[in-house]
Amino acid sequence: MVAEVIVDVAHSDVDRIFDYACGDLLPGTRVSVPFGKTVTTGFVMRLKERSELPADKLRQVLRAEEVPALTAESLFLARKIAARYRVPLALALRLFLPAEMRTGKVRESYRTFLRLADADAPVSARAPRQRELILFLKDNKEADSALLREKFGGAVKTLLDRGVLAAEKRRVLRAPYLAAEASETGGRELTPAQRRAVDTVNRTEKTVTLLHGVTGSGKTEVYLNLIAERLARGQSALFLVPEISLTPQMLAQLRARFGSAAAILHSGLSAGERFDEWQRLREGSAKIAIGARSAVFAPVENVGIVVIDEEHDGSYSSESAPRYNTFDIALLRARYNGCKLVLGSATPSVETYRRAKEGEFELVSMPDRVNARPLPRVQIVDMRREVRRGNASAFSSALRERLRACLEEGNQAILFLNRRGYSQTVICRDCGYVAKCEHCDVSLTYHSDEGCLKCHYCGATYKIPSSCPSCGGKSIRYVGTGTQRVVGELGALFPSARVLRMDVDTTSGKEGHYRILRKFADREADILVGTQMVAKGHDFPSVTLVGILDADMSLHFPDYRSGERTFQLVTQVAGRSGRAQEPGEVVLQTYDPENYILRFAAAYDYEGFYAHEISMRAAMGFPPFAKVVRVMVTGEDEAETLSALRETYEKLRPVYEANADRFLFFHRMHAPIKRIQGKHRYQVLMRLLDGALLKEIYDACAEVKSKNALVYVEENPSNLS
Ligand code: ADP
Ligand code: ZN
Repeated sequence: MVAEVIVDVAHSDVDRIFDYACGDLLPGTRVSVPFGKTVTTGFVMRLKERSELPADKLRQVLRAEEVPALTAESLFLARKIAARYRVPLALALRLFLPAEMRTGKVRESYRTFLRLADADAPVSARAPRQRELILFLKDNKEADSALLREKFGGAVKTLLDRGVLAAEKRRVLRAPYLAAEASETGGRELTPAQRRAVDTVNRTEKTVTLLHGVTGSGKTEVYLNLIAERLARGQSALFLVPEISLTPQMLAQLRARFGSAAAILHSGLSAGERFDEWQRLREGSAKIAIGARSAVFAPVENVGIVVIDEEHDGSYSSESAPRYNTFDIALLRARYNGCKLVLGSATPSVETYRRAKEGEFELVSMPDRVNARPLPRVQIVDMRREVRRGNASAFSSALRERLRACLEEGNQAILFLNRRGYSQTVICRDCGYVAKCEHCDVSLTYHSDEGCLKCHYCGATYKIPSSCPSCGGKSIRYVGTGTQRVVGELGALFPSARVLRMDVDTTSGKEGHYRILRKFADREADILVGTQMVAKGHDFPSVTLVGILDADMSLHFPDYRSGERTFQLVTQVAGRSGRAQEPGEVVLQTYDPENYILRFAAAYDYEGFYAHEISMRAAMGFPPFAKVVRVMVTGEDEAETLSALRETYEKLRPVYEANADRFLFFHRMHAPIKRIQGKHRYQVLMRLLDGALLKEIYDACAEVKSKNALVYVEENPSNLS
């Protein structure tokens, strides 16, 4: 046989098939092959009878793994991705094989277990530890040998040598979140709305269904039901959620319902855990892959359903090559397997909602909360009036009052700040100097606990200047509201309240989010203060108050999606309140109380928001009526980066000139943030009527020869900074 092999080298020079002679192999098998003067790994893409190569040129596969690492579907998808996003096939293949598997540094984990081979063996009266050990194993049947050695020391070896004990080496699984206990949600009766949603997905002819359900409408139960039905038929499922912080809760529910058939895949796991979870899916002993965006590549076969929860979430687009969109891959998988794809959200993205409205997707709504619990009332507070009244704190008097009442009633509150980056920066009151990072074109953030300034793009830390580096003046001030400052103010306002902070600074490390959420869920704190992370689908029954401290901050980003983002954030974070028996409320603080986005959000009026937003997008020529394409050019050396920009622009210009009527915009310029981590950032920004010219654009960019600069294409980027 001859194997067509892609070598695992992500470079366009070797991005083609190499033939190798081999024995009996399956596609997807990982092999070692001679390559030039070295040996490298590769993947068998296809097998054939003979090669075009002359026999003396055809080299042999050196080693092959027993079980193919990649499924037939993975090979199919990798080909599609490589073509769609213009990346070497080797790079696309890597998506399907986590780093742990690729590098071979992580292996199955084995432990040795000991049991009694001869329970009646005589033991000398002068060896009490040996006797204890035998008694212990009589009680426990078997135990880990490392543990026994710790407990009984040398007695273990003595008895092993004498054949009184028998050893057995077994594979053990490193399962994540074993601490997540079973919840009570195992297969309960569906509400009529949930039943209708499940039936709609099952009956529709359309591949994609959008489940538009308000927060607390019970979308999770719908997903679980759909998944259970597939599992019963022997099929598997892909269940994607936006945030690592969400998965423990979700996983607890899935474990309660499906036991070890559920496997979790995400970057917060240890390498060993990820390896084992992936293996369980690949072997088919686990059938449900749950995780963030990369779980869309999970090695499950015979997929019966794909679910994307919180489909509007920005984390579903990848920010490193290949810059894939999770929905695109999910749709490919649904088509490949002939199964349904369900998108769920309380605040669908404008583009998704339009496709559902136009009939491309099935649309099913769940407009009410489970058991008709009311959505929390939203009170809009005008912060300009607070300032005029001399209140310079982060809390309006209304929010302070509601917070006091909430705590007195023994309930919990969540306080939300829009952006960590909005936290405190250092400015000079005399000359207006703002402390900026030396490597990035962004202002620094003051961290009171460490007494320093930090760059949130590259992590560099700086000393706090005692005088202004620009004018030498002494009027250095901190401005802005950071989570730390809010926590400080809370301490002064409610000294006995227990406060938890959740932002990028406090959630580092494995299971960092989980620890904080667990604490809050266990009522070890009364108030949770945080950024975006607290907005997402957590379900805390005792939370009756949500305070949004700076509702309009995200309105002022240079991005056509900033209105949509704000609407989504406000709705999501408001949805955390009053989910159980107690009714909830929301206090929304803003300097722009007339803003239509905030008005629609406060009224839970998605239709109103959508109608307004879609007409504005149509008038302005923004997606979904146009396509925003940005070609980024970044590099360390400014002159080289600029010359790469010029070359990119020249390659793109013929595409533009031949199709000028399809372009709404075509310009080269600095990116809004001019430098990140020492890399200069330039862009060719385009707005096109549709995606018809994408292939030409990718092709043109692939032709750029400039070295020392990275050139890549972004489609409707979720972040235009
Ligand atoms: P969503 O994801 O739509 O925001 P959830 O799935 O978190 O909503 O459900 C909201 C609440 O309703 C949860 O506390 C959940 O346990 C509860 N719930 C969901 N479905 C049912 C049901 N069929 N019967 C009783 N309670 C339910
Ligand atoms: Zn920096």
